[in-house]
Amino acid sequence: MSRVMLITGASRGIGAATARLAARQGYALCLNYHQREDAANQVLEQIRAAGVSAITVKADVADEDQVLAMFDVIDREFGHLDVLVNNAGMLEQQMRLEKMDAARWTRVLGANVIGSFLCAREAIKRMSTKNGGRGGSIINLSSIAARLGAPGEYIDYAAAKGAIDSMTLGLAKEVAGEGIRVNGVRPGVIHTDIHASGGEPDRIERVKASVPMGRGGQAEEIAEAILWLASEQASYTTGALLDVSGGR
Ligand code: NAP
Repeated sequence: MSRVMLITGASRGIGAATARLAARQGYALCLNYHQREDAANQVLEQIRAAGVSAITVKADVADEDQVLAMFDVIDREFGHLDVLVNNAGMLEQQMRLEKMDAARWTRVLGANVIGSFLCAREAIKRMSTKNGGRGGSIINLSSIAARLGAPGEYIDYAAAKGAIDSMTLGLAKEVAGEGIRVNGVRPGVIHTDIHASGGEPDRIERVKASVPMGRGGQAEEIAEAILWLASEQASYTTGALLDVSGGR
């Protein structure tokens, strides 16, 4: 029986790269996306070409009903879940904190924090040996912004990722005795669309001098870390926050 992996935000960037690598490793895949059905379908086609079973599911991870419906689909289509990659995330226009409003914070914390909590909760219900599950692995996408703070850009996003780090540490301990490992990956600046969402598509050009390796990373380089944490090779690793940031 194939191991089943749910990747949230699998239509683009790091999530899509993770999906392609997971397909090459033989995982059956549930690819979640929010709005970009076209992009999700493209990833689905690439994955099916690798011969693995895969589906796409549209859901806003910040919406509890939509997350519940997505897990219902997983139950129906696959019958179990082995790996959750809490990858869906977003940021908004760069600005100082004094210019931000509460509606923005609700959106940023909703997608990045509540979304990861909701998916983790539903995954644990299914994975925990306490509930008759067969264990599993959860990988949360944080960011080195959690320790740098993103001043002048998006402190709200950085703080959301700080929350993800704390959740990773606590949850890892909470479920360690139930066959579930919980780890975080903290990417540095990676070539994806996310920088355009902040209003600066070429942001990596500006900040790359602050990266000891002198370059931005590729989504595939983050996918490798995620797939290792998901694998049996990482069987004694839980509660780890793995920086994949070129030394930044
Ligand atoms: P991206 O290229 O902007 O892609 C974001 C993905 O998340 C898309 O698939 C998008 O779906 C999905 N998404 C956004 N909001 C969602 C929601 N509410 N519900 C469900 N899906 C949602 O981003 P990325 O750079 O690959 O980032 C992936 C993760 O890595 C994020 O958690 C991000 O914070 C983290 N990260 C990225 C970097 C970087 O430099 N790129 C650095 C540190 C951390 P649609 O396509 O349908 O819109």
